[in-house]
Amino acid sequence: MSKSLQAIRGMNDILPEQTPLWRYFEGTVARLLDNYGYKQIRMPIVEFTELFKRSIGEVTDIVEKEMYTFEDRNGDSLTLRPEGTAACVRAVLEHGITGGGQVQKLWYIGPMFRHERPQKGRYRQFHQIGLEVFNLDGPDIDAELIIMTWRLWGELGIRDAVKLELNSLGTSESRGRYREALVEYLSAHHDKLDEDSQRRLKTNPLRVLDTKNADTQAVLVDAPKMADYLDDESRAHFEGLKARLDAVGIPYVLNPKLVRGLDYYSKTVFEWVTDKLGAQGTVCAGGRYDGLVEQMGGKPTPGVGFAMGIERLVLMLETLEQIPEEISRQVDVYLCAFGEAAELAGLALAERVRDQLPNLRLQVNAGAGSFKSQFKKADKSGALYALILGDDEMAQQVVGFKPLRGQGEQQSIAWDALAAHLATCVVQG
Ligand code: ATP
Ligand code: MG
Repeated sequence: MSKSLQAIRGMNDILPEQTPLWRYFEGTVARLLDNYGYKQIRMPIVEFTELFKRSIGEVTDIVEKEMYTFEDRNGDSLTLRPEGTAACVRAVLEHGITGGGQVQKLWYIGPMFRHERPQKGRYRQFHQIGLEVFNLDGPDIDAELIIMTWRLWGELGIRDAVKLELNSLGTSESRGRYREALVEYLSAHHDKLDEDSQRRLKTNPLRVLDTKNADTQAVLVDAPKMADYLDDESRAHFEGLKARLDAVGIPYVLNPKLVRGLDYYSKTVFEWVTDKLGAQGTVCAGGRYDGLVEQMGGKPTPGVGFAMGIERLVLMLETLEQIPEEISRQVDVYLCAFGEAAELAGLALAERVRDQLPNLRLQVNAGAGSFKSQFKKADKSGALYALILGDDEMAQQVVGFKPLRGQGEQQSIAWDALAAHLATCVVQG
């Protein structure tokens, strides 16, 4: 196929054989969030470029080099959203739903776009489930977010393969004092820093902590630690969070170098990381952003949230072989009919059964075919049972009921009794 007719590099089709696992994952998360009282919000995929510049920060990887930005036909600069928080904050402000201290517990799901180097677990269109809570400023809600994800890993069977890393960036005052100390220290070692870090030292010094460069990492060993600069308020918040995680029994490691890529975080930051996916090890990341809403023109409004990468989590389920058996079977019953009269009777019968068993996954053979070919299709569909309608069955107004997975002999069931019979042998979701 010519290149111009292929998908864009780093933007993937999710094929029918993969979608059951995606839907299982998304369904599990959605149910869990419902149960904790979170409500879904849906934002547009495109926003004004200015929104991301203002919220994410000009001196971040995303805004500097990863955004898909283009001019609209009327000259506006628009950007495909690289993350969800900015749009979510814009939406709650625009609709006034966080005004007067109203608490909002929101989640969203959808594609995000970043022009990164595509590799395993890193794509240019990827998908996130994100969650934002507004107007709660205590460590209890930070803990709830982490507790929910911990439960999710348990339900998915991947809890043993992830680790929680935790840090506090403090209030903006304490972060300011820390930044000064860090800049002073790093400036004294300027020559030993890699080029990127030298640049960041001027623009966004905390990001130097995030470096992958070994020489810079060596310099950082003796650098001042954020923990020593936390003010009482930040310290109490962090202790409150840790006490709650301890109470529930969630293990964590403190990582003083965890600063997150975005500018807007304060106090709590966390990442769930795994060593099962190679270099792309963070599956879920988030933190508190008490200053963001105000920075975007709203009243001071505390906020906290996280986002998880669906591709990486689906990859983990595959890697750890945590794929529930029932999700790969998509047909319960397959109806084969031979001859025109049987086909018509079969159609009507199938609709009657569907009326009575709306959750039954019943596939009616299409394309006619011989006994042998229809039977082959029934088997290949993965169905547990085949229903057979031929001349004999038509004459007696019955249907042949044949177990396909080796549980018993074929029997005849009267048309009127079919739905009741199916209800006893097929577990319906
Ligand atoms: P990373 O350090 O891996 O680049 P990030 O800090 O840029 O991640 P966030 O902006 O916090 O990521 O996004 C939250 C989650 O979304 C990440 O933990 C990851 O699981 C997922 N994610 C981020 N970028 C990508 C991408 N390009 N492809 C696939 N998943 C991604
Ligand atoms: Mg990134």
